[in-house]
Amino acid sequence: MTVRPASCSCGQLRAEVRGDPLHVAVCHCHACQRRTGSVFSAQAAFPRESVTIEGTGTEFVRVGDEGARFRFTFCPACGSTVFYVEEGDERHIAIPVGAFADAHFPAPKISVYEKRRHSWVSLPDDVERWRKDPV
Ligand SMILES: [Zn+2]
Ligand SMILES: [Zn+2]
Repeated sequence: MTVRPASCSCGQLRAEVRGDPLHVAVCHCHACQRRTGSVFSAQAAFPRESVTIEGTGTEFVRVGDEGARFRFTFCPACGSTVFYVEEGDERHIAIPVGAFADAHFPAPKISVYEKRRHSWVSLPDDVERWRKDPV
């Protein structure tokens, strides 16, 4: 079974995952742009029991457009988000793909908030586009 380590930029907060992600998605929404400092986010979902967390994290809850509450855990020393969960869905955990710093990580198959996508960003043709997102 593949084991992959993820960490914040200083290495204090870490997550180790066993097995491949359930799915990998990118999101172009403004909240993801601001959270990551990048022009879109990329994240991988795993079953909660496949993830081991080490280190100390600080939580930030963001309420999504549909009312869902997302609980992000970031390193208090360097600020990188290492994982997040949607409240009420304790079975899954999402980890930013960049936290793995692994160019061979499985590619995304879903693209969310296409309306917010920067015009110069292009993705492979096999990525499913969600075009009905709220603006
Ligand atoms: Zn850190
Ligand atoms: Zn987003």
